[in-house]
Amino acid sequence: MNAALLHRLRAELDERRATTGLRRDLVVSGAQGPALGVGGEWLVNFASNDYLGLAGDPEVLDAARRALRETGLGVAAGRVLCGTRAVHGELEAGIAELVGAEDAVLYTSCFDANLGLFDALLGPQDVVLSDALNHASLIDGIRLSRARRRVFAHGDLDELERHLTEFAGARHRLIVTDGVFSMDGDVAALPRLCELAERHDAVLVVDDSHATGVLGTTGGGTAEHFGLKGRVDVLTGTLGKALGGAAGGFVAGDRALVETLRQVSRPYIFTNAMAPALAGAALAAIRIARRRPDLRERLAANTAWLRRALHDLGYEVPPGEHPIIPVMLRGGTLALDVAAALRREGVLAFALSHPVVPAGEERIRVQVSAAHTAGQLERAAAAFGRARAVLAGS
Ligand SMILES: *Cc1c(COP(=O)(O)O)cnc(C)c1O
Repeated sequence: MNAALLHRLRAELDERRATTGLRRDLVVSGAQGPALGVGGEWLVNFASNDYLGLAGDPEVLDAARRALRETGLGVAAGRVLCGTRAVHGELEAGIAELVGAEDAVLYTSCFDANLGLFDALLGPQDVVLSDALNHASLIDGIRLSRARRRVFAHGDLDELERHLTEFAGARHRLIVTDGVFSMDGDVAALPRLCELAERHDAVLVVDDSHATGVLGTTGGGTAEHFGLKGRVDVLTGTLGKALGGAAGGFVAGDRALVETLRQVSRPYIFTNAMAPALAGAALAAIRIARRRPDLRERLAANTAWLRRALHDLGYEVPPGEHPIIPVMLRGGTLALDVAAALRREGVLAFALSHPVVPAGEERIRVQVSAAHTAGQLERAAAAFGRARAVLAGS
């Protein structure tokens, strides 16, 4: 390799090693589920986004096997050439129905969906108003477009409204928000966001990755949770979380929006089509998610139980209902130390620290699933209880 580049990369890695340390991916064994193998041991898993437990559902896995048998593994072509199979269209229709939109278009991930959305719709005459805690893929997607952009403080809708007024002369103003924010599990104030968008004639874009399948009586997401299903202009989401957890993303909205994306959106056109087995699995997951509100009820009960247990143990748990439970362990390496103590007790949950969250807001993120048994939840609570010794020693 080029000596100058190699020299620079080594120096930067040394610097990183000495300051934040280098991240090492944990090697996990076993299928995704409420327990995972780590280093020859089974840990209760509170670190996945498999909120409904559908990643291990036999019907989902059967659908994947069936599609694999019928269409093979990969299609070796983009959607716009010979990569489209019937299952892609069925899945797009299933997504549209789930979220209450006219139509939907698939991408190979929600990251890709967000990269492909803004550039396809916007030009320099447009303005994007983006929540400060929006997902990295939204930030990058907005950057790829030529629109002007303004970031408003997280959830500060008064500031948002000032920007809406300031840019009243723009061709389009897009308000962009996560439906559920991944670090805090807090739900965007959709009723007021809808009202602001309508009053200011702005476009509302919601990335509902952590909410699709999870919130709302039929799993329709944040909008359905607030009785606003179908009222969001543009919805993006993932198939890699509650909806089977394999891979895939989408944009849903009016037919003309979806048709435009099929014509011009670069990560739709210039990439390989989603493997049919993954599409078949996601479609099965959507069908299960819609017909089984009991999974969401179990998830809500599990979440409420563990939130209360952690609170009663004296941990700082910001109020909320989403299965993302932030357990605040502020300052220094406290969150890391508690996560290590949990690991020793057979519980897997990750500490989040700077730069993923602001310094002073370090935490452990606990993610609950409908698949967790009462015993597994009790095990987590007991582990957090014993980990209080770490706090006492700090
Ligand atoms: C997870 C997530 C994504 C990325 O989804 P992938 O399908 O895994 O690329 C995008 N946006 C938000 C808000 C997410 O939480």
